[in-house]
Amino acid sequence: MALFIDKNKCARCGSCEPECPQQAIFQTEDAFVINPKLCNECAGKNAEPLCAQVCSSDAIHKIKTGLYKKLFG
Ligand code: SF4
Ligand code: SF4
Repeated sequence: MALFIDKNKCARCGSCEPECPQQAIFQTEDAFVINPKLCNECAGKNAEPLCAQVCSSDAIHKIKTGLYKKLFG
C-alpha cells in the first residue's frame, strides 16, 4: 500500500506537508503529492498515517501499490 493525495479533493492547505516524518510530501505547481518511495505509511510511529489524520478535506487515501504504479508509473 501507498498513500495517495486526490488532487481533486485537496484544498492545498499545506497542513500535511510538515506532519510527514519521512519528508515524503511535496508541492508541485498545481498539487500536493506523496512520493511513494519515501512514504512508509508512518510505520512504527502511528496507527494511522499522520498526513491523513490532519487532512480536513479527506483527500489522502491508501491505495494498492500495484494500482499506484499503474496510475502513476
Ligand atoms: S503516511 Fe506518513 S510517511 Fe506517508 S506521506 Fe503520510 S505522513 Fe508521510
Ligand atoms: S492536508 Fe489535505 S487538503 Fe491540505 S494540502 Fe494536504 S492533502 Fe491537501
